[in-house]
Amino acid sequence: MPREHPPLAQAVESYLASRPRAARWLEWLAGRRYRLATFPDRAQPVVVIAHRTRYPARAGLVARAIEQDWAETPPHCRDAYEEILQQAPGLVVVQLRRRNVCGCLGHRHVVVKEAPFAEAHDAFGDAAVGEMDIAFDRVESWLAQPLLDIALDTQFIAGSRRREFHDQQMRFRLLSILLHETHHMVSPQAMEDVVRGRSLTFYREAMAHYVEMARATLSFTIDRSFSRLGKE
Ligand SMILES: [Zn+2]
Ligand SMILES: [Zn+2]
Repeated sequence: MPREHPPLAQAVESYLASRPRAARWLEWLAGRRYRLATFPDRAQPVVVIAHRTRYPARAGLVARAIEQDWAETPPHCRDAYEEILQQAPGLVVVQLRRRNVCGCLGHRHVVVKEAPFAEAHDAFGDAAVGEMDIAFDRVESWLAQPLLDIALDTQFIAGSRRREFHDQQMRFRLLSILLHETHHMVSPQAMEDVVRGRSLTFYREAMAHYVEMARATLSFTIDRSFSRLGKE
């Protein structure tokens, strides 16, 4: 019986490990690392998070957003990106940076620059390769939905789950930007307003759902204004 073809993620892992020692050594010295992540409900796209060793936790947040938080969003949030993810390149390289000179949260790259993925390789099979960058520091200070973000923040600020809340919020921001740039990759002609509208809706609804769930389990040391939140 023929062996099952290894999933793309596995093929990419082995490809990365099998490259010439010199290339890997230079990469290691430069502090460059790759972390792979896949959505739990589909084999592709495989997301390659290219990051620096100084901030390993940051790549971890992106990976967790893809591997776990995605599945915990309400079905209509995921449905809105179903077609986009289906048409996305099989391999999506995310260059996780601290910031961009232009101040943007992220960009879609027209040409793949991340060295191991810049040229076609057997390990990629038929999969196309796309690339984007995400500026982590910028995402952290970004108020995706100013009224909602500030309102939520003041609600959680006194609570013991503040840290958990902030991490969750950050992961949904990262996920919404990843989806936003993937949307640009799939439809390069789409208007920015349309692309942004969809990703902000994703973020808003994912957060609202999370807050609703959190509220159900929070101890009620939180003031009563919390209950007004859902009506915005
Ligand atoms: Zn820019
Ligand atoms: Zn955009």
